[in-house]
Amino acid sequence: MNRGVGKAIHDYDMISNGDRIAVGLSGGQDSLTLLWLLRERLRRIPVHYELVPIYIDPGFEPGFGAQLKDYCSQWGLELRLEETRHGILAHSTENRENPCFLCSHLRRKRLFEIADEQGCRKLALGHNKDDLIETLFLNICYAGEICTMVPSQTFFQGKFTVIRPLAYVDETVIRKFAKENRFPVFDNPCPTSKTSKRKEIKEMLGQLYQGNSNVKGNIFRALSHVRTDYLLKDHSKRRKGSGNRHESIQSRESGHDAPSAL
Ligand code: SF4
Repeated sequence: MNRGVGKAIHDYDMISNGDRIAVGLSGGQDSLTLLWLLRERLRRIPVHYELVPIYIDPGFEPGFGAQLKDYCSQWGLELRLEETRHGILAHSTENRENPCFLCSHLRRKRLFEIADEQGCRKLALGHNKDDLIETLFLNICYAGEICTMVPSQTFFQGKFTVIRPLAYVDETVIRKFAKENRFPVFDNPCPTSKTSKRKEIKEMLGQLYQGNSNVKGNIFRALSHVRTDYLLKDHSKRRKGSGNRHESIQSRESGHDAPSAL
């Protein structure tokens, strides 16, 4: 796993000396693994950076923010814990959209704000190889676009950079690592977490992977081998930023093994 993380960090020039990096925690094993790896990496490489773990609690009971805070303190890190009601609001009658869309949008916005308050210009998220593939299919199926989350992406005219150091790492490798290291497993109390579109896509992909062990690797390779000459021209009237409800998914909406992240 270290090799995959190191390669992603190198390929996308993700971390520089002196960086102060916010790490978005979800309570899931991916983001905890990411935090652990980034912290451990500091001991091995001649690059110094600071880590600021942040958790935006969506407001469901029973929450686990306090346990997460305790866990971070065992690693010598202080968790910035933000209690919100974004998940509750997203499931209320006030919201006519997909709950995950609003919830993740609000929490992502707050995460950027807190990262800014904490003086971080980089935000590390725990998305892995499987997440990138699932997001590709979600966008094709539900947004009519071919795109996914990318390992490194700037926002707000370059003010922030979101980095995904686990982008080359298989979910199964992370699960095994988390189990071996006895990372805590927090159950996601959100009612949507078991029924999301991402979960459907994950199950569909799981069947494809069972049929041929090359499929996952081929899909992932295809993400960087796009033959645009063999795609169609866009003759539609649809314009970007028009408020279309089928907006593409740039973050993991839900369906985590544990509480959802951004
Ligand atoms: S599954 Fe996650 S993103 Fe979706 S509504 Fe629940 S907490 Fe929010």
